[in-house]
Amino acid sequence: MRQVDRSSVGNPPCLDRDLSAEIEKIREGAKPRTDIYRHEEVMIRLQVLYLEKCFLCEKFVGKKGIVEHFLPWHKEFPERAYEWENLNLSCNECNDRKRQKPYRIPADPHKPAMKTVLINPSKPSFGYTVEELIRFNKHREAVAGGKKSVSSEVVNTIKFLNDTKPLRYRNRRWDELTEIVFQSDCKTIWWEFRDMRAINPNDWDDAEFSGKISALERGDAVYQMFLTERSPFYACMKYVVFEILRLSVADFKQMSDTYRKYKGLATD
Ligand SMILES: [Zn+2]
Repeated sequence: MRQVDRSSVGNPPCLDRDLSAEIEKIREGAKPRTDIYRHEEVMIRLQVLYLEKCFLCEKFVGKKGIVEHFLPWHKEFPERAYEWENLNLSCNECNDRKRQKPYRIPADPHKPAMKTVLINPSKPSFGYTVEELIRFNKHREAVAGGKKSVSSEVVNTIKFLNDTKPLRYRNRRWDELTEIVFQSDCKTIWWEFRDMRAINPNDWDDAEFSGKISALERGDAVYQMFLTERSPFYACMKYVVFEILRLSVADFKQMSDTYRKYKGLATD
């Protein structure tokens, strides 16, 4: 889960107009209109906001993400159907699990939901950031962040993120990364790079060049594939990489930038 700033994408015009007649229809028993809350203007904004990943588990969903209602709509709460602040991009699995105990209060789907007991990534509780509330350990498990006050939202979000499936996805992701890392043992060279002020391939002599340039190339691959905000499960991977490899996102970015500059490739 990563924090997002809704103001960065602006309100979708299709929701920014008078929808009172449509809201009244839901109050009378109609279902919300998908051509309104799943309008292209909403989809595009949510894809940009969440970088095409699920707003809870950070699995890549691309253009297939579901528009989900953080607080479920109900005829007693019809306005929730079209509230921009209430809409998120989700994967199928999270959308289903979120409806169950203990995340929805009450869990009975026939009764209107009074509360969703999960952290809302665009509006975390008590003025804390998502990162202050949730971290990950080296076993890819979500744990409470540095802030002492652990609320039910935090406890539930940790439980939600540590459910079998999302945990299995993150473990698989880590396996993919270690395949890259341990194909050749470049960890020692990475630590050397980390401890230097600047890396300059032009300074390397012939004897050391090929080993170092291949470590640098691998460092670039790790950064591009796993450690940009856009990468699936980024919030978790950055902690795991630091806990296990003692290398930060900034260390990998430095390797990536150096490699790309040296090769004349585009950097982000
Ligand atoms: Zn998900």
